[in-house]
Amino acid sequence: SRPVRISVHLHPYGDGRTLLLSRDVTALEQADAMRRDFVANVSHEIRTPLTVLTGFVETLQTLPLSADERSRYLGMMAQQAQRMQSVVQDLLTLSRLEGSPLPGMAEWTPVQSLMQRCEEEGRALSMLLTQNQQRPHAMRFPAADLLRAEGEIAGVPAELQSALSNLVNNAVRYTPGGGSIDVQWLRKDDGSVVFSVHDTGPGIAPEHIPRLTERFYRVDRSRSRETGGTGLGLAIVKHVLQRHGATLDIASTLGKGSVFSVTFPANRLRGFALPG
Ligand code: ADP
Repeated sequence: SRPVRISVHLHPYGDGRTLLLSRDVTALEQADAMRRDFVANVSHEIRTPLTVLTGFVETLQTLPLSADERSRYLGMMAQQAQRMQSVVQDLLTLSRLEGSPLPGMAEWTPVQSLMQRCEEEGRALSMLLTQNQQRPHAMRFPAADLLRAEGEIAGVPAELQSALSNLVNNAVRYTPGGGSIDVQWLRKDDGSVVFSVHDTGPGIAPEHIPRLTERFYRVDRSRSRETGGTGLGLAIVKHVLQRHGATLDIASTLGKGSVFSVTFPANRLRGFALPG
């Protein structure tokens, strides 16, 4: 348990009596510490690629380089610029999500189109990440059955898409080639629907799990960066799901793999086939 911080002010009346004002500032101080952490993280995430970029610029300016070398350097510079762009893009997405309530007129979004995009993106990413290896991922998506063909979720289509794709893409990014990724939809008896992504990746130790949706929290920094991660993906997923009345559950076993599941409540759904 964290210590409680009390701020105390003494106001002497001048006649020997004193007024004592005390205030619990625990929450205020915590919010302030979180804000400072956040600013420090943002600065770090932007400054690192900026430092690398500046170094390359200096090299290009001062060293006589062959055309080949120049183009190699420019390629690496483009990569760093891209990284900064992703961080800024994700930060803007987060701040937009935090500031705006879900529009009253949510659209009915067909699960079929959400799934189709998840599958296309997931497979493309898998090809990209395993192109230098002999072992691709084994990926399974739900067949185009009734549930997939007719079910709809009330929400903002682009947000729902980014949240679900993000979980599939993470499974691809953290699972080494040869591993498998299994995407499922399940309608439960209470009318809710569970979307889940199962992978045979490295798994996540229990102490990290509650923190994964914090901004910039990463278990494996290098794997995250190598595969284009900003450390903001799951923070965005969490916000999107909150706005849609949905919840995220993470179950994982070190060395075996992880399951990320999203539960959509019945009152946001229509047209899903009955279970069983
Ligand atoms: P990142 O851009 O780093 O992937 P995320 O917010 O998407 O950021 O994820 C936070 C961290 O959670 C990742 O850095 C990684 O350590 C861990 N993580 C996410 N998905 C998985 C997964 N499927 N398997 C193992 N670790 C994962």
